[in-house]
Amino acid sequence: MSTTNATVSDRQAEYRKLPAVDALLRTPELAHLAVTIGDAMLAEAVRAVLANARRAIAAGEVAPTFDTWPHLVQQHLEEALAPSLRPVINATGVIIHTNLGRAPLSAAALAAVQRMAAGYSTLEYDLVAGGRGSRHDHARRLLCELTGAEAAMVVNNNAAAVYLALSALCQGREVLISRSQLVEIGGGFRIPDVLRQSGARLVEVGTTNRTHLHDFIYAVNAESAAIMRVHSSNFKQLGFVTMPSLAELTAAAHARGLLLIDDLGSGTLIDTAAYGLAPEPTVQQSVGAGADIITFSGDKLLGGPQAGIVVGRTEHVERLQRHPMARALRVDKLTLAALEATLYSYRHGRAVQEIPVWRMIAAPIADLQARAAGWQTFLAAQSIVAEVHPGESAVGGGSLPGETLPTALLAIDHPAPDLIAAALRRQPTPVICRIQQDRLLFDPRTVLPEQEETLLTTLAAVIK
Ligand SMILES: *Cc1c(COP(=O)(O)O)cnc(C)c1O
Repeated sequence: MSTTNATVSDRQAEYRKLPAVDALLRTPELAHLAVTIGDAMLAEAVRAVLANARRAIAAGEVAPTFDTWPHLVQQHLEEALAPSLRPVINATGVIIHTNLGRAPLSAAALAAVQRMAAGYSTLEYDLVAGGRGSRHDHARRLLCELTGAEAAMVVNNNAAAVYLALSALCQGREVLISRSQLVEIGGGFRIPDVLRQSGARLVEVGTTNRTHLHDFIYAVNAESAAIMRVHSSNFKQLGFVTMPSLAELTAAAHARGLLLIDDLGSGTLIDTAAYGLAPEPTVQQSVGAGADIITFSGDKLLGGPQAGIVVGRTEHVERLQRHPMARALRVDKLTLAALEATLYSYRHGRAVQEIPVWRMIAAPIADLQARAAGWQTFLAAQSIVAEVHPGESAVGGGSLPGETLPTALLAIDHPAPDLIAAALRRQPTPVICRIQQDRLLFDPRTVLPEQEETLLTTLAAVIK
């Protein structure tokens, strides 16, 4: 279609083939469209498509034939009217992909959201009393049961949970943190900045690589409110490093009348070591070590909706609930519905079978190989050459840095992999893949089974 050596007169000939706006608006197809979307929007679309064609001709392409114009205008309208928040197929192999919306919800969580969204609910209603109830009641019982904590509360996300805890419990007083834990989580969330915003004063303790228990003990004074531990979610320290255990920190804090606040980040209820990964600290371990307030995300390894979960001692959690900012940071009924349903999977011991994040982590390598091989066979029938290669998936989402899971990748060689990847992103259901050494890589681990057919027809249509 494109000719790079088009002369000036060739180009002028192509420009002359461009129809007038009115002529296009009079075609039966577009006249019909005008009825549904209105004359003004249609005329705007026609002008935009003509402008695109002029740019294409300037770049050496030829003008579209007259009978393809209505289709081009329709296509443009579909793209222009598409919502900006859209489902995509995650073929990257990064399970908790923050840019792609983190955890996909379980079928039970989806059903719960639909039930609660469609009608009225007991969000803040006590059925026994026949009057006002508290939205804090909903996930509380399950969270306490699963973690062993006395009390629990749910807010918008873990960033909000950390802010609320510091603000409600430490405002105007000092919080002791190891220099190795003054971290940036990503997206501009930095522990020292959140601390400052909360009105608490940061006291840095120890050094970047080594912090001892006595470093904390020496820093305690009448202004101290808490020792805070922040999990090194998205980086790893190796070599000459040391840090007291959570139980040691908690004992030291309590002996001096201070609180121990533990920001777990991902916060898992399941031992990751059972799946060939490094052990990520569990919420139960933090509760067992005696931490007063523990915060973690709902949509990282828990595998539920975006939320910040606070568990801990009743008197402290109640202070968070009474804080004026609690209302600004609260969650809606849909989040609570999805969270409760997700927690039920854990309660019934079915988390690994039912929660997509855990299903992906636990996927047997033989299943992944079989899926990749099935994709290869499908594409071969369309004369597209692909190979199946061993590779690695990542957990992502600021958990288990550097940890990978062995996987089977579908690999496609192409002279212009970036162009193909860009074309895949422009499809009705965009496909996001990886490119490594000029090959397009697709990891079955993160492709939901129900999206497989769409993935394959999209690949066949784009790569050809
Ligand atoms: C991810 C993370 C946060 C932020 O959690 P969000 O739910 O994304 O707000 C805070 N602290 C740590 C240690 C984290 O890993």
